[in-house]
Amino acid sequence: MARAVIADDSPFLLKQLERLLKKNNIEIVGMAANGEEALEQATSELPDVILLDINMPVMDGYETCQHLKQSEKTKNIPIIFLTGSKAEEDIVTGLTIGAQGYITKPYNEKELIARINVAAKIRTSEKEIETLALTDALTGLYNRRFLLQRFKEEIERTGRHASGLSCMMLDIDYFKKINDTYGHDVGDFVLKEIADVLRTNVREYDTVARFGGEEFMVLIPGAAPVHALEIGEKIRKKVEEHELKKDDEKISVTVSIGVFGCMGIPILDDIEQYIKCADEALYVAKIRGRNRIVTIQYESPRYRFVTSQKKQ
Ligand code: GH3
Ligand code: MG
Ligand code: MG
Repeated sequence: MARAVIADDSPFLLKQLERLLKKNNIEIVGMAANGEEALEQATSELPDVILLDINMPVMDGYETCQHLKQSEKTKNIPIIFLTGSKAEEDIVTGLTIGAQGYITKPYNEKELIARINVAAKIRTSEKEIETLALTDALTGLYNRRFLLQRFKEEIERTGRHASGLSCMMLDIDYFKKINDTYGHDVGDFVLKEIADVLRTNVREYDTVARFGGEEFMVLIPGAAPVHALEIGEKIRKKVEEHELKKDDEKISVTVSIGVFGCMGIPILDDIEQYIKCADEALYVAKIRGRNRIVTIQYESPRYRFVTSQKKQ
């Protein structure tokens, strides 16, 4: 079902459109009397399509369209102008500033509905492509690209609020041996299972990504390194205790984890540095015997490796 925001300064026309859209199974998630309201509703509802009048008080349709196209959140939502003006100049302006369609009043109902549905269908396909581009196909986790994007946003936010930001790098221990012993398909199955353990053991606002082959990364905003260590240790135990079975055969899997984070100031403003530190901590976890979690603590002017858990 397509979701639409409609904006027109005529209450009569809004009502008429509401009836028509509802009758045709288009959900109305916002009805605005001017451009400013339309902008607010579009930003909070992220509809599949916006129907926009041009001559409206407070903010006209052109200006609204320009604002929508400038915002990262709303720039891909298709806009259809629905207006009384048939002037060639207005049509060209509307389409030039990014609208997908231009329909003049009085409108033909069937044409309007068809155009809304086409716009919504294109938007749905685009969203699917956007999701695919940010997701790892095997595990369904986010991919490296998305994680780096989120990381950048969080570093900027952390810089503004001087709050904590931690990350952890996880790598499956002796994974090559699992592939060699049981085959690549079982290896893939193990990756999916570990992804599920990660997904179910982090908070809603943490980001879990498959970072590489058998390497995962978790971004933990608002967390001091000591808190990230607790989360990581919980995950390490869950993986160790996880009953992994393929055709009645029990497969033991463990992970090594490197944690790095900052609390307040000083804050690193470089993603590469965060990742490098988490990677170095992971490397130390591997050489200290695997199935353990290591963090790097910053003690001016140098870093110190700390293992929080010793393998029994
Ligand atoms: P360590 O404990 O030091 O991490 O050893 P390891 O064997 O886990 O690490 P290594 O880097 O030697 O091997 C990783 C293996 O992961 C090699 C590669 O073939 C396998 N791998 C990478 N991606 C996939 C995948 O998508 N599916 C499967 N089944 N295997 C993969
Ligand atoms: Mg490994
Ligand atoms: Mg590896």
